[in-house]
Amino acid sequence: MVIKNGNGIVWPDNKRIALMLTFDFDVEWLRYSREGRRSLGFADRSRGEYAIEEGLTRCLRVLDKQNVESTFFVPGKVAETYPEEVKKIAEMGHEIAYHGWEHEDSIDMTQAEEFRNMERAEAVFRKLTGKKPTGARGCWNMTYAFTPELLRKRGYKYSSVMKNCDYAWMYPGDAECPLIEFPVDHTFDDYTFFFFTFNTPQHRSNYPIDYVFDYWTDAFEELASEGDKIMVLKLHPQLIGRASRAVLLDRFITYAKDHDAWIASCNEVADYILEQEMKTTEERRSQR
Ligand SMILES: [Zn+2]
Repeated sequence: MVIKNGNGIVWPDNKRIALMLTFDFDVEWLRYSREGRRSLGFADRSRGEYAIEEGLTRCLRVLDKQNVESTFFVPGKVAETYPEEVKKIAEMGHEIAYHGWEHEDSIDMTQAEEFRNMERAEAVFRKLTGKKPTGARGCWNMTYAFTPELLRKRGYKYSSVMKNCDYAWMYPGDAECPLIEFPVDHTFDDYTFFFFTFNTPQHRSNYPIDYVFDYWTDAFEELASEGDKIMVLKLHPQLIGRASRAVLLDRFITYAKDHDAWIASCNEVADYILEQEMKTTEERRSQR
């Protein structure tokens, strides 16, 4: 692995940190993909449905009020099932990125299967938004040995699934088709703090709002003081979109803005990094 963008990158307007607010719009497929449709009770399934109306509406309202752009990772099947909601996300200026076809929970995925999933999802996104996604996030924190090459082949710029550092970094390989990684972590994931189900005892989390606010702002301060770091929040409208948690999101964005964060979509940060990378390469060439 070659880490490239922790090495003194200066964010636009000398901002202290690049903050990416990302939302996994998994709706019912978050639970379908792990529990199967049959074993999942109606009540548990309805948690996913919360994302479709109030959860999403509240998240979009907060983003709109704060005037920030974000990235929504959307499984293709979700976009096919809820086209109006996905169109609305895009119309409000947010990025739509790839997140599997049915939020697959598979360690045995083959390249051919993933190729087909991407092809199908991209076709739905193109129909709804007129655009092809430029970024991807593996479902259930999974990625495969073939993923970087597949993403490159299909014209993607970035992935956001690894956990190895707080830098954006470049995958080794073809410099003509650069692929950036935006690592994310479970401690920046609302699922860790707020996912509660009676079905699985290990998932009975409901942390106090102030605890999570302090956790995230402490992390923000430490990373921002280091100067060239990123922070990727991984959120789910069915969890962060609950009333008191939407207030948490709003509070955290206000804090980040007041403390000099550059808040942008993953696509925008990827473009900025690639632009900086190109400038550095040209400077090196002209010095020879
Ligand atoms: Zn997901």
